[in-house]
Amino acid sequence: MSVAELVADLRATGPHLSVGILTADLLHLGDELALLERVGARIVHTDVGDGVFSPMFTVGPPFVKAQRTTLLKDAHLMIEDPVEKVQAFVDAGADMITFQVEGTRHPHRVLQVLGKATNANDPERGIVRGVALNPGTPAGALEPLLDDLEYVLVLAVNPGWSGQGFITAMEDKLAAVAELIARSGRPILLGADGGITRANLGHVATLGVDVIVTGSAIFDGRTPEENAALMLGEIRGRRQLAGSPGAREK
Ligand code: ZN
Repeated sequence: MSVAELVADLRATGPHLSVGILTADLLHLGDELALLERVGARIVHTDVGDGVFSPMFTVGPPFVKAQRTTLLKDAHLMIEDPVEKVQAFVDAGADMITFQVEGTRHPHRVLQVLGKATNANDPERGIVRGVALNPGTPAGALEPLLDDLEYVLVLAVNPGWSGQGFITAMEDKLAAVAELIARSGRPILLGADGGITRANLGHVATLGVDVIVTGSAIFDGRTPEENAALMLGEIRGRRQLAGSPGAREK
């Protein structure tokens, strides 16, 4: 499946959960990934923090490589100067690579590098190229980049720690980005990341998003399988309520 086919499929069948793996039981990474496969998740999300761009140090390419799974591996790079570093995530088998537009002076060059990269899992498929926006970055920052990306991720919290609250002003930004995407006429995935819990998931699913990132609401140290099944059930229910599969609210 090419990147274009994959993006079209994700848009038609979304919204999807991209499940943050860092709050899982990392000593049993294989079991935790198997749990996500079992409940029908499609995407696993790794928050990469370098201690500079993001105040948190988290994990790097070896951790992405250690994920042996049929899920799509989504690497969210909250790092400085990604242009020199993205290839290591490509080599580690990331299927989707999202960098922060604020982390580089040359976001377009990063997209060019990713556009030439070969997916380590499937040489026929490229990489889904994503750009993430911090809460303080206006939607217009994307405009010159829209011809060269497949995914826009709107952060609803500032990079750092899990468990922060969803900044409600980001609803307007999601609408503004959805508008830019619609105007571009290109098939681009829209995602929301940060502060998404069981309580607000249903609402976020109505905001025109294709990908919803959630982590600690699933891997809460208690009942991850139940949480994942409930949250996937909730967004499937919303999809049916919205009518045909993939119906998007604009
Ligand atoms: Zn993230």
